[in-house]
Amino acid sequence: MSNELSHELRELRREFGMAVLLITHDLGVVAENADVVAVMYASRVVEVATVEELFDHPKHPYTEGLFRSIPKLGAHMQRLDTIPGTVPNPARFPTGCKFHTRCHRTRALAERADPSQTVEVTSAGERFKVLKRCNVEEPDLREVQPKHWAACHQIDGYDAAPVTEPTLAHHRTIVPRVVTGAAGIIGGNGQPLSGAAMPKQEVAS
Ligand code: SF4
Repeated sequence: MSNELSHELRELRREFGMAVLLITHDLGVVAENADVVAVMYASRVVEVATVEELFDHPKHPYTEGLFRSIPKLGAHMQRLDTIPGTVPNPARFPTGCKFHTRCHRTRALAERADPSQTVEVTSAGERFKVLKRCNVEEPDLREVQPKHWAACHQIDGYDAAPVTEPTLAHHRTIVPRVVTGAAGIIGGNGQPLSGAAMPKQEVAS
């Protein structure tokens, strides 16, 4: 989305007090425009939070993967991190959590888990272990913290968290912080963000 279009949308919102629903893969667009973010994977909402909370404390492994794939100012990397594998064919979604064939969290936990709690799967030509629960049980979207919803069995407190309606009335309050001695701005999580992902302050309408 161009800066001009982004600016026009903000002006329209301010002038008419209207809500705008943006559907995008571009976290820069999210950072610049969103008050509330719903992250979707394989046809399901897997995380909902305010834009500030999501950028500071992502909880779902897919959201974490999206943030890891953003270029960081000042970081010296040969290649960007990517989420392994590809989005599954909707006609053949995986059983259980639809993200389990690509999820770094279930793989890491399965390495340390009792073998009776794990199962081997094959994805993108690779064979690896995941947690059995991730392979068989699709997680609900739960309010894992007040006003923060996520669908992942492996979040602290997930099993005790309530299933509530993910509704948020919120206006963003992100304030950019200039990194001293470097040409960049860091997000609320202290991580330098790329030019495309810099949150900007917006006056609430
Ligand atoms: S439920 Fe399991 S596979 Fe799904 S996101 Fe959480 S850890 Fe990963």
